Amino acid sequence: MDDCIFCKIINKEIPADFVHEDEKCIAIKDINPKATTHLLILPKKHIASVIELEEGDEKIAGHLIKMAKDIASKLGLKGYKLQINVGKDGGQEVFHLHLHLLSQFA
Ligand code: AMP
Ligand code: ZN
Repeated sequence: MDDCIFCKIINKEIPADFVHEDEKCIAIKDINPKATTHLLILPKKHIASVIELEEGDEKIAGHLIKMAKDIASKLGLKGYKLQINVGKDGGQEVFHLHLHLLSQFA
């Protein structure tokens, strides 16, 4: 997607603070953190939101949660929240599917 900021980050056209990358997804630090640890985990495939998930995307969706667990474990996080905002009315601002990983609230 030409005008998608997260696709541009995935394609290294604009910078971001990467904490993980594999063949299916990346994890970056949120530019405007709402918790001590605030990461975004996003698929490399452009999927606009949960609403646009298609048949066959189950593996990608599951992979995001598995990576959240692995990254949290590597960081030694004992507890955290995983959040997905879905659609404009669900508070979604960037229309490329992403999982928020939030930990250690102020
Ligand atoms: P959402 O409301 O679920 O769409 O969340 C979008 C998130 O992306 C927000 O928490 C933003 O702070 C974050 N964000 C927007 N642009 C960037 C960027 N260039 N790098 C990292 N995080 C970003
Ligand atoms: Zn995208």
